[in-house]
Amino acid sequence: MDCLFCKIIAGEIPSKMVHQDDVTVVFPDINPKARVHLLILPKKHIPTIADLEDGDEKIMGHLMRVAQKVPRAQNLSGYRLQFNVGKDGGQEIFHIHCHLLAN
Ligand code: 5GP
Ligand code: ZN
Repeated sequence: MDCLFCKIIAGEIPSKMVHQDDVTVVFPDINPKARVHLLILPKKHIPTIADLEDGDEKIMGHLMRVAQKVPRAQNLSGYRLQFNVGKDGGQEIFHIHCHLLAN
C-alpha cells in the first residue's frame, strides 16, 4: 500500500517512536507547529475519520487513551488534540492521525 504512515509503522521509513503498542504508534511530526508536536496513529490503515466503520470504536477509544497517557508521561500540563478530516479539512496524509500540540 502506498501510504507514508503505513511505511513508518512498518519501519520501512525510520522515525523516532515515542510510543508503540498493538494498536497505535506515536512519533514526532517532521514539521512541528508547536514545541511538542506528535502524531498519534492507529496501526490499522483507515484513511480518515469519515471512513470509520462499526468495530473501529475500540481502536479509536484506545487511541484517545494514548492521547491521554503520552502527554502525561511527558509532564505536559495542557495540549491540543486535532484531527484534520478530508482534503477540505486540511488533511494531507490519508491515514488517520491525531495531532498532539503543546507549547
Ligand atoms: P495532516 O495535514 O494530514 O493532518 O497532517 C500531516 C502531518 O504529517 C503534517 O503535519 C506533516 O508535517 C506531517 N508529515 C508529513 N510527512 C511526514 C513524514 O515523513 N514524517 C513525519 N514524522 N511527519 C510527516
Ligand atoms: Zn496507512
